[in-house]
Amino acid sequence: MLCPICHSENIQTFYKYDNFTLLHCQKCDLIFREDYHSVTKDLITEVYDENWITMREKYTKNIFLEHASFNITLLNIFTPKKGELLEVGAGTGEFLYLAQAAGWNVTGFEPSLPTCSYVQEKYNIKLINSLWDKSKLTDDCMFDIITFWHVLEHLAQPLQFLEEVASVLSPQGLIFFSIPNKNSFTNKIYGYSSPLYLEADHLFHYSLKSLITLIKQTPLDALALFSREEVCRLFQDLKAHEELSKSWQNPTFPEMMALQAQLQSKFAGHELFCIAHKKQP
Ligand SMILES: [Zn+2]
Repeated sequence: MLCPICHSENIQTFYKYDNFTLLHCQKCDLIFREDYHSVTKDLITEVYDENWITMREKYTKNIFLEHASFNITLLNIFTPKKGELLEVGAGTGEFLYLAQAAGWNVTGFEPSLPTCSYVQEKYNIKLINSLWDKSKLTDDCMFDIITFWHVLEHLAQPLQFLEEVASVLSPQGLIFFSIPNKNSFTNKIYGYSSPLYLEADHLFHYSLKSLITLIKQTPLDALALFSREEVCRLFQDLKAHEELSKSWQNPTFPEMMALQAQLQSKFAGHELFCIAHKKQP
């Protein structure tokens, strides 16, 4: 078994779960499902079904709106001029809806059919029902912005995916994406039983090191890399696992804020963000 990102043979077992095993590359730090190459796209569509939509509507609507609005702010900082925007993995459509309202012409891919129907009904946006399929785009279409929030960790062929999306990115275009961070505080305090590792459809768990190793092989250069830790996430993690985080029991507000700042500055927040453009000749 070779590491799918850096091709090292130096691989160790990270943990054997009931249904799958995670391996850990000692060279680039990637954690990945041993059977990543044989996991079908059906796994994603099974996870993101009607129950998932209900869960998002009922319990996490505000969080997803908050994420979408943070992502729109990022776009506005880097691209005040609006044009064509593509989102891969549009989910329940909050981001595309806000992007459209902000002035972008939007196109979206989404593998789950019930989710596509939901977005059509709720936001009147017609998504392409596919995880990603370049051939479903018209031949000459190019995008000024391509986004994929929390998608890359689901893909067994990330290099091929990044090459394909780069091929429909305009010369001055930008790619924005985020992924869960393997070196997050969440993973640190929960260890093997972290909810992130238990997500069977997360084929790869990237840290900054493995992400940079991947990007170097693509036609893209990272313009900005940063990590984000939300205070509400920090509260949740500490509350859920007081036993495992004894040193952080009942932190004061300044202590919490300081922890958040430290995690973000050390690329140890819950998420990693990347803003990339095409390699300049
Ligand atoms: Zn590796």
